[in-house]
Amino acid sequence: MEVFDSYESLKKVLNEGVGSIGMVPTMGALHEGHLSLIRRAAQENQRVLISIFVNPTQFEEASDLINYPKTLVEDLKAIASIDSKTYVYVPKTNDIYGQNALTETFDLSDLDQVMEGSKRKNHFQGVATIVKFFLETFKPTKAYFGQKDYQQLQIILQLAEKLNLNTEIIGCPIVREVDGLAMSSRNKHLTPAERKIAPLVFKALLEVKEMSKNKKYSVLKSFINAFFVEHSQLELDYFVIADSKTLLEISDQDKAREGRAFIAVRLGKIRLIDNLDLA
Ligand code: AMP
Repeated sequence: MEVFDSYESLKKVLNEGVGSIGMVPTMGALHEGHLSLIRRAAQENQRVLISIFVNPTQFEEASDLINYPKTLVEDLKAIASIDSKTYVYVPKTNDIYGQNALTETFDLSDLDQVMEGSKRKNHFQGVATIVKFFLETFKPTKAYFGQKDYQQLQIILQLAEKLNLNTEIIGCPIVREVDGLAMSSRNKHLTPAERKIAPLVFKALLEVKEMSKNKKYSVLKSFINAFFVEHSQLELDYFVIADSKTLLEISDQDKAREGRAFIAVRLGKIRLIDNLDLA
């Protein structure tokens, strides 16, 4: 494992011709979800490049940015335990953005206007800004992203195509705790009582999947509304069934089983997101 805090010095090493590179961008506070991406990158490439950078341009609330969990020492230990040649890029903000962290604007074909995008203005423009920087600067052979952030994955797939970025984008399955809760760095902030009820979000999605075999979308929406009235510590932010590529919501009378279910829920101070293929 080699750690770099400047992209120039890292680029120099990569330019020496190190073979195929699999890149895994992260914001740190690594868990098994991140490690599954890193292991896959290690299997499929000669070198793995992991970035640990809490990207300011994708945060709307300064407090969310400041409070984002930081566990660099543990993160580096976890990466060092991976049996592969790894490069870790841990920059300060000015290495990437200079004095002014500005967001670029991309045409994301409205994939950024729905669900997370409608709740977090400019979030995906910030994500696209940093991903474009990584892919253009380091030119990895492949880059790995989790389906945990399914909307982000679709946006990056499209960005890479539109900008002719020469990197293959690989989507990887969601890694869950044994009780079904999708792993997330933010789960660290759940209180013990909140942690106990958090798996209900995935449970609701599983019930939706079962019902989607023979129920229309309108019925599933009513079910979800009632579910979260019953479990009132969990506040439903949105529940949407959408086409898995266009992310366009299906219509009320449609059978749901072809789409993908997306959910966001507030639990205390934490916002949980999850999604499930219904096919
Ligand atoms: P983050 O550090 O939250 O920006 O996540 C870095 C990458 O890890 C993103 O591509 C995420 O989608 C992915 N990721 C986060 N949590 C999980 C998970 N539970 N399972 C699979 N991938 C994940």
